[in-house]
Amino acid sequence: MTSFHIFQHIFNSSFEFYGLSEWLLEIMPDNVNLTRTNIKQSNNGWIFRRHNAHSKFICMSCTESTSHLFRQKKKINSWSSAFTTILFRARLDKSLNGQNIGRIQMKIFEQGCQTCNTFSTGFLDEKEIKKTFYRLYLWILKVFYNVKLIDDEFEEICNQPQRLNRGQIISHDSSRCDGCKVGWCQYLYKTKNMTKLKKHVIM
Ligand SMILES: [Zn+2]
Ligand SMILES: [Zn+2]
Repeated sequence: MTSFHIFQHIFNSSFEFYGLSEWLLEIMPDNVNLTRTNIKQSNNGWIFRRHNAHSKFICMSCTESTSHLFRQKKKINSWSSAFTTILFRARLDKSLNGQNIGRIQMKIFEQGCQTCNTFSTGFLDEKEIKKTFYRLYLWILKVFYNVKLIDDEFEEICNQPQRLNRGQIISHDSSRCDGCKVGWCQYLYKTKNMTKLKKHVIM
């Protein structure tokens, strides 16, 4: 998995570059209920945003046990996911001396290995992490600074997995995706839209 320190490092340099160095990135606390239906639009000043990313998973559990049993033949169990759900929540506060302090908390949902059922988060490359924070930056501008940049529809299109085809959609293991379990995974909305589209074609 990509460590939080890598995310934080890229976040800090990106947000400083964007002129928003008053924003800090933190790990989402474990006690936050992230089920989509339980989250209201604004929760104690926290505003939520889902991001869909690409990542590569390597099951360490399978990799370790296989390398132990077959020393020469090290088989790595890995898969790529076009439906990697990252959930952010953000809040902007004023400190006692009137300065703005923005806080962003993030959670990457885990996916399970089809061989041993061990759950883990994937690896995001630098380009993907930078893209994620660029989208987050545009959202922060819109939500907290009332900057009108792009409409939601455009944002939704940009958020959709690239080079998506039927095969990729079907290959997402929804039963082993924590993002699907809590209702945030884009896969759920993609399949819903496809059903709508199919109905439309039949009519
Ligand atoms: Zn495994
Ligand atoms: Zn999912």
